[in-house]
Amino acid sequence: MNFKIITIFPKIFDSYFSESIIKRAQKQGIIKIISQNLREFSGDRRETVDDTPYGGGAGMLMKIEPLYKALKKLAPRVNKKRKIVLLSAQGQRWTQQLAQKYSKLNEVIFICGRYEGVDERIKNFIDDEISIGDYVLTGGELGAMVMIDSITRLLPGALGNEQSSQDESHSQVGILEYPQYTKPEKFKIKNKSYDVPEILLSGNHQKIKEWQEKNNNNNKKGVV
Ligand code: SAM
Repeated sequence: MNFKIITIFPKIFDSYFSESIIKRAQKQGIIKIISQNLREFSGDRRETVDDTPYGGGAGMLMKIEPLYKALKKLAPRVNKKRKIVLLSAQGQRWTQQLAQKYSKLNEVIFICGRYEGVDERIKNFIDDEISIGDYVLTGGELGAMVMIDSITRLLPGALGNEQSSQDESHSQVGILEYPQYTKPEKFKIKNKSYDVPEILLSGNHQKIKEWQEKNNNNNKKGVV
């Protein structure tokens, strides 16, 4: 799976992508991540990629020409298994179900907005406009990271244990994972003991499974 990110801050990804599962997935050749500096396509010596909005209003907008040129370079040919995504506070909400759909592709290109956003004409050249939640971020880079992380977990071989991604919260709509505990059995603090539920220590796999199904965390979020 190729991930290509169009951004004015290409180094912003270095730290997160060079640790843990994402690092290993790159090493194993499961994913490849390219971070493309949009300024290389500005067409002027000052590397301008933004300008004032027509009709007035606060702030600057990302210009269409550099973005179009970057897309031409990163997506030179038609590819039915590719999606071009604009990160946007106004987009469709990113969910585990969308991550599952995206995990069947072979390439995703991300356009990370900055400033007050992107010239509306970009919408003629994208497949999806995606929001990672109902709040406003400073740029699309965090959104691209969230999407890359959640897609990568679903790719064969990316997690040590395939079952992990199948049993996780949201892998079925509205279902959250059950509570989990590790050692010690009793955690004592200020004369109070916080104990692991006895059933989990019983070794009775059938009973444990029933307990896990009954005690999943759905009620915490009010999910039915
Ligand atoms: N003026 C825009 C609006 O009101 O919708 C917000 C622009 S925001 C400061 C700059 C960029 O951050 C956006 O173009 C988008 O790429 C990204 N962004 C902001 N919030 C986001 C969100 N919830 N999900 C994904 N990307 C977001």
